[in-house]
Amino acid sequence: MKRSTPRPKCRARAKHTGEPCGNYPPPGGVVCRFHGGRAPAAMKKAAIRNALAEALQNGDRRPPFMILADTLHSCDVLATQIRLGIMGAEEVTPDMISAFVEAIERAQRAAKLVIDARVETMMVQSVMVEGDVIAGIFLRALAAANLNVDAEMRLREALGVELSRLGEQQQALDGRPVSVQVIDSVVVGE
Ligand SMILES: [Zn+2]
Repeated sequence: MKRSTPRPKCRARAKHTGEPCGNYPPPGGVVCRFHGGRAPAAMKKAAIRNALAEALQNGDRRPPFMILADTLHSCDVLATQIRLGIMGAEEVTPDMISAFVEAIERAQRAAKLVIDARVETMMVQSVMVEGDVIAGIFLRALAAANLNVDAEMRLREALGVELSRLGEQQQALDGRPVSVQVIDSVVVGE
């Protein structure tokens, strides 16, 4: 398969000359092995980048746990084939062994995605808690202001716009999704 983008080079600079390093990092990595690219933390990040790149490349938009279930299923099917082969019922080819090893590796990466996705879910929940606090303050202020119906509607709309903007800014900053329910609760009421 032809690469669509050139393979990135090490981001580090040579200590004495200050020139860009020019060596290739391990797949998914950003620095070469001379600049810490084989350190455990760097390898871990590289593995996450590879897993995400693989999922995106395959256009796989399913929840990570479904991808994991699928990969585990293919592991199971391949393992059964090999087991039958060893028992003499079928032929075991080197290709089958390679496919099995690849399936296990895919499952490992999918498992990592599931763990990362859980972290993401927890971050969404914390944004929603923050949002609920903000919404609570607005709603109590709204009640205290004791406005007429028209004025209250306009203020709710304005607050909705502001909260959406806040959510977009937060998402742009750290990639955390906007809490739509909170915006709805302020605009629609309750
Ligand atoms: Zn380097």
